[in-house]
Amino acid sequence: MQKKLQLLTNLQALDTKLSSIEKAKGNLPYLVNEFSKEIEELTSELEVLKNDFDETKKDLNDSKTTIDESNTLLGKYKDQRGMVTNNKEYEALVNEMAYRENLVEELTLKISESNILLENKKELVDEKKTILEEKIASLAEKQQQLDAKLSETADEENKLAEKRNKLVAKIDKQLYNLYDRIYRSKNLIAVVPADEGHCGGCFTILPSQKLSELKRRDSIVQCDTCSRILIYSFEDEGK
Ligand SMILES: [Zn+2]
Repeated sequence: MQKKLQLLTNLQALDTKLSSIEKAKGNLPYLVNEFSKEIEELTSELEVLKNDFDETKKDLNDSKTTIDESNTLLGKYKDQRGMVTNNKEYEALVNEMAYRENLVEELTLKISESNILLENKKELVDEKKTILEEKIASLAEKQQQLDAKLSETADEENKLAEKRNKLVAKIDKQLYNLYDRIYRSKNLIAVVPADEGHCGGCFTILPSQKLSELKRRDSIVQCDTCSRILIYSFEDEGK
């Protein structure tokens, strides 16, 4: 049991070192992650805006084509008008001409509206593009800083991680799971000293029964308040 307690103490010490290295990276990993997410969102927003722009543009071109076709037809109808022999045909021709003239008028109006719309949409696309480019530049900068920090600490981190793997292999699974659960939920501190009669994590005074349990060192003893694993006089322990 003493060996188990010693292993847990060593594991906590290693994890504390690893987490302080992680802390030294500051908010760089967070920022890199945030910028990446923002870039992803902006890219899809831009995609939607571009599609919208293209659709309006296509609409405008369709209108232009219809106007051209109508004008050609109107020219033909004017020529035919002089050759019509009966009233019915004449009426049909005049109706058709009126329809085409209306259409040209409507579409001409629509085109001038679409031109304004297109201009606004283009402005929006350009605006988003600029923001996106800025974000991409910021991401590159933060990524570079993070990479530099990572390469500074990579060696130490790798060594510690290797040590940790070896250590974890010696600890039985159930006990490691207990440690891991407390470590994650209790602010990265799972194993605390209890030498002074209180829990080294939450400082709750330990009842005498708990203390004698601890002194026997034949079981894993947890704090009743914070559940952390208590270690009694681990520094005196014979190596
Ligand atoms: Zn506690």
